[in-house]
Amino acid sequence: MGEHKVIILGTGPAGLTAAIYAARANLNPLVVEGNEPGGQLTLTTEIENFPGFPDAIMGPELMDNMRKQAERFGAEFIFGLATAVDLHERPFRVTVNETDEFSTQSLIISTGASAKMLGIPGESEALGHGVSTCATCDGFFFRDKKIVVVGGGDSAMEEATFLTKFASEVTIIHRRDTLRASKVMQERARDNPKIKWLMNVTPVAVKSENNQVKGLEVHDNDTQKTRLVEAEGIFVAIGHNPNTAFLKAQVETDKVGYIICSPHNTATSVEGVFACGDVMDSHYRQAITAAGTGCRAAMDVEKYLEGSFVHDWSLSGSH
Ligand code: NAP
Repeated sequence: MGEHKVIILGTGPAGLTAAIYAARANLNPLVVEGNEPGGQLTLTTEIENFPGFPDAIMGPELMDNMRKQAERFGAEFIFGLATAVDLHERPFRVTVNETDEFSTQSLIISTGASAKMLGIPGESEALGHGVSTCATCDGFFFRDKKIVVVGGGDSAMEEATFLTKFASEVTIIHRRDTLRASKVMQERARDNPKIKWLMNVTPVAVKSENNQVKGLEVHDNDTQKTRLVEAEGIFVAIGHNPNTAFLKAQVETDKVGYIICSPHNTATSVEGVFACGDVMDSHYRQAITAAGTGCRAAMDVEKYLEGSFVHDWSLSGSH
């Protein structure tokens, strides 16, 4: 197989925007779709804040449009997951689905981040049958039902507030007695009469019967007792993990695993390897910000391949 000029890993808004720009620059990008083609937006319904769509657009439709736009300019897509990379030698090597090898002069990593799970008994079996990580996607299925939301950060506040549109009652369950969420998000949740609070309890098991969630078993850290909080829906909102394990520490990351980019561009610690989207941004995490960094990554790659990119990444300075 020939050497590619650029391979793009991931097809969320960052990867697809990078693909559009790289394809229009005649770089013939090879785009590895990843586990979840289209990324997290394919798990949502309406997107109301992506500029250019005054009447909103459905997440899957937006992603499909971006993909078609990239294909129109010559981006090539392969279905599969990047399982390993070798960035020690040039050209870089990318392994897809453990077996297929590709070589490339440059690489754009846009593998995003995935929702964290509690890792307790009963949880994985109930995923999609009462356990969810996406209120926007699944809230509708819990009309007039009791829901619990696990977490004490902004995501938990946002999901709980959103879910009160559907649920009869939403209980926020948090493992400590103080929240991590910002004041404004906390206040919004506290002002909502449909939201109840259960603090300082640790989730221990998801209980289901006949494939239907019955509740969340929790350990009360004050009384040391275990009890069942009845609910038909359990929304896990405890943060995200960047999808960087396959890099095996060949690119510098922060302690959580998010890729560290230069403050001036999308360069990573390895010359010729660029990153964009949620995999390098744990803060903004928006479709439009991811798309913006995708554009930057493709422009940086173009310069790199021309030999005019100044690699200014360094662990000193603002990192
Ligand atoms: P986060 O701030 O990391 O909060 C995660 C929460 O889940 C924490 O309260 C944590 O508890 C809890 N948690 C983590 N692991 C747990 C476990 N195994 N069992 C039980 N609880 C667990 O994550 P996030 O809420 O997703 O927010 C991430 C970033 O996105 C933040 O910067 C946030 O401000 C931002 N964000 C902003 C908005 C907005 O402004 N509209 C909305 C969503 C997210 P502890 O507190 O005990 O650690």
